[in-house]
Amino acid sequence: MKVVKFGGSSLANGTQFKKVAQIVIADKERRIVVVSAPGKRSAEDIKTTDLLISLANEVTNGGNESDALHLVLRRFADIVEELELESELITEIERQLLDLITTYRDDKDRLFDALKASGENQNAKLVAAYFRKLGEEAHYVSPEEAGIIVTDHPGNARILPEAYEELEKLRDRSGILVIPGFFGVSKMGNIVTFPRGGSDITGSIVAAGVGADLYENFTDVNSIYSVNPTLVSEPHKMKEITYREMRELAYSGFSVFHDEALQPVVKKKIPVLIKNTNDPQATGTQIVADRVLDGLAVVGIASDEGFCSINLTKYLMNKEVGFGRKLLEILEGEEISFEHTPSGIDNMSVIIRSHHLQNGKEERILHRIRTELFVEEVHVERDLAIVMVVGEGMAKAVGVASMATAALSNAGVNIKMINQGSSEVSMMFGVNASQADLAVQSLYHAYFTPTTVNQ
Ligand code: ASP
Repeated sequence: MKVVKFGGSSLANGTQFKKVAQIVIADKERRIVVVSAPGKRSAEDIKTTDLLISLANEVTNGGNESDALHLVLRRFADIVEELELESELITEIERQLLDLITTYRDDKDRLFDALKASGENQNAKLVAAYFRKLGEEAHYVSPEEAGIIVTDHPGNARILPEAYEELEKLRDRSGILVIPGFFGVSKMGNIVTFPRGGSDITGSIVAAGVGADLYENFTDVNSIYSVNPTLVSEPHKMKEITYREMRELAYSGFSVFHDEALQPVVKKKIPVLIKNTNDPQATGTQIVADRVLDGLAVVGIASDEGFCSINLTKYLMNKEVGFGRKLLEILEGEEISFEHTPSGIDNMSVIIRSHHLQNGKEERILHRIRTELFVEEVHVERDLAIVMVVGEGMAKAVGVASMATAALSNAGVNIKMINQGSSEVSMMFGVNASQADLAVQSLYHAYFTPTTVNQ
């Protein structure tokens, strides 16, 4: 049995729906289909989820609700018209959206979640209706019916362990089951969304719940490239990578698969296959528990911006018991998670996402560090990017780090920090955001251009 997830670009219009139907119908093992909301039809287009967020904004700010609602309905109506589905489907979508607005008008968080979730929810109904029109037995299954029970944090749902027991029962259902991605239902009965891009997470949860043999994730690229294809021409394509490699790359900017989507499948060792809806014959990239580590020691290079670093210095810090705990407790008090903590004997840096330091948090944190930890110096360094060199093979290869530092220095990139965890699956470089692309390009050429390919 396969669980198949289709992203927003795969369901952006009626023509894309037809490709999706062909893919699903061509393989009887594709029994459960998880869908995103209709995505962009062109570079300038707006995703349905973003239209729904605009609608939620208009409602909360007392703005022009009816225009915003009209734009959402138009997206669905285009699909219904192109596929010649029943026009009542649109009347019903309108009724349900108006219902949600009435119910949650005074509860901003719930309103946003309920409206955001409607993109996938209504799209799943259209997909099921289209499959039935083609003569297939297909059922829309709501996350509530499927048993996708989640925590009650708006916009940041986490699956609850008991969900998996419920999900297993889907195995016994007949026909093609179409489940909306991106949200679940809390024990209190609220609609709660996963973080943006979270339909990948639903697909993974469902695949783990039903114990699928394969989780196919259809998107709009033929494979995952070793580097952002806008930075390097004809980059290397990855045929197979491990969960750990994908986790590192997804964390640091590879948006092709959500970084929170691996956890459910990892436990059950269900392989994930990234495929292209527009070219389903292409082999794609398989994400697996283990692979034979031959060939390249480095599989991918990624970078992400929007980081800053709290740098502090204190003489004899290495001998002070509890220093690190106290520092991290200060961050915890502000509900900030940290990303990396490179340190020396008398200094420590905590790298965090810059957006955390808003609303007076920066001042409060620096004040507490000065007054409670008695440091000699503390300051915030901004506009950092992290660049990750990823590959399981690095642990066994000699000279991978020196190749990286040589490449970066030849390109004139100033390395601000270096960090490598004990797993040796990745190496992290902190650089100025303005030099991030140059860093990635120079590293890519060092590891992947034919004259210097590392073994
Ligand atoms: N539609 C949601 C988003 O745009 C979720 C998804 O596509 O996975 O973030």
